[in-house]
Amino acid sequence: MDLQRKIGGGITKIQQSIEQGKQKLQIAQEINKCKNVIEETVEKRADVLIKLGEAIYKKIRLGEIEDPDLLSLSEVLIQLDKTLYQTKNKLEKLMEHGAEGKVCVHCRQPLSLEDRFCGACGQPVKQKEEEREQYVVCPRCEQPILQPAEFCICCGIKLA
Ligand SMILES: [Zn+2]
Ligand SMILES: [Zn+2]
Repeated sequence: MDLQRKIGGGITKIQQSIEQGKQKLQIAQEINKCKNVIEETVEKRADVLIKLGEAIYKKIRLGEIEDPDLLSLSEVLIQLDKTLYQTKNKLEKLMEHGAEGKVCVHCRQPLSLEDRFCGACGQPVKQKEEEREQYVVCPRCEQPILQPAEFCICCGIKLA
């Protein structure tokens, strides 16, 4: 009897530890599921927030929203847009001249992007003066915008 009881007790203990192991595994799986759901949801939420922000920012640029809190928030974006736009322009110029460098059309002397006159032959570096006259300064981001344009290509505001 004693032996049988001992064996019986042993089997029960083994069964218990198997059950406990199963439970632990299930809990670990549930924890992972929860973590995945949270991660995915946070990502989706951020995506929606970005879209919402873009939509609101578009309305602000079109002058459809005049909420002062939203406007002051969008001021930060204007500065960032300005930086982006100007840096992209600079990058474009650098890439344009990157291969051989900008050179004087008269004597092929290398020029820097800011040079107004050639250091070797003294000829003026050709500036797009005709075009410059067709520029209008954006009242919001102060970027010169080539006319005619309905929207500022830098900050996206609707030009009067
Ligand atoms: Zn020259
Ligand atoms: Zn602008």
